[in-house]
Amino acid sequence: MEKKQMLYEGKAKKLFALDTPDQCIISYKDDATAFNGLKKGFVSGKGIINNKISGLLMSVLEGKGIPTHFIKEISKREMLVKKVEIFPLEVMVRNVAASSLSKRLGLPEGAKMKQPIIEFCYKKDELGDPMINEYHILAMDFATKEELDLITEYALKTNQILKEYFLNIKIKLIDIKLEFGKTADGKIVLADEISPDTCRLWDSITNEKLDRDRFRRDLGGVEEAYNEIFDRLFENI
Ligand code: C5P
Repeated sequence: MEKKQMLYEGKAKKLFALDTPDQCIISYKDDATAFNGLKKGFVSGKGIINNKISGLLMSVLEGKGIPTHFIKEISKREMLVKKVEIFPLEVMVRNVAASSLSKRLGLPEGAKMKQPIIEFCYKKDELGDPMINEYHILAMDFATKEELDLITEYALKTNQILKEYFLNIKIKLIDIKLEFGKTADGKIVLADEISPDTCRLWDSITNEKLDRDRFRRDLGGVEEAYNEIFDRLFENI
């Protein structure tokens, strides 16, 4: 397996091509960003932690029937994944009100909801990832109706599985951002990453924030929070 050219460098990850055309390598960086890249920083060791956490959670999801792009971990910062074409969608699933939802609806952070909320954003940095709905997705042909139905089903199942998994380690999954892709043979899979960069995770007793909000909001203890999630997840295995 020979790593070839870099296909893409994102805010927190790099993607490399391989000599096997249906696979690629994700390499996780320690760079931290917020507010669409306006705030930049560095969280020492974050890439190693996110690689491990994302690999573990994708394996858990695979075991429960959610197809993912994850194949295996190949080094401290790198995982082998299936090559996919990413849908230009960020799929948010929310269990508890926080951040942008709290602002939009005037709800206190932490407000309970009767059922999860699913929201879609158009993945477009230049536009600040605007929120869109099913009609926009179909009209712009970002996905077909069948694809969108499957993405929605996988997103809600993923949320339910992870909510229970995190509760076992006394963490509340407040919300999560998911991305999906299509493999060369047309299969829809969960892609991107699942980590404290892409979820809101609160201690279930104290409500302490143990995710990227510590960086976004200058709360301090960012490395410690990521390490805490890592330790609880891996102590549990
Ligand atoms: O900011 P907002 O409340 O919309 O975020 C919802 C969830 O999506 C949070 O868990 C946040 O960390 C995640 N998110 C993300 N990448 C973005 C925007 C939000 O991972 N670009």
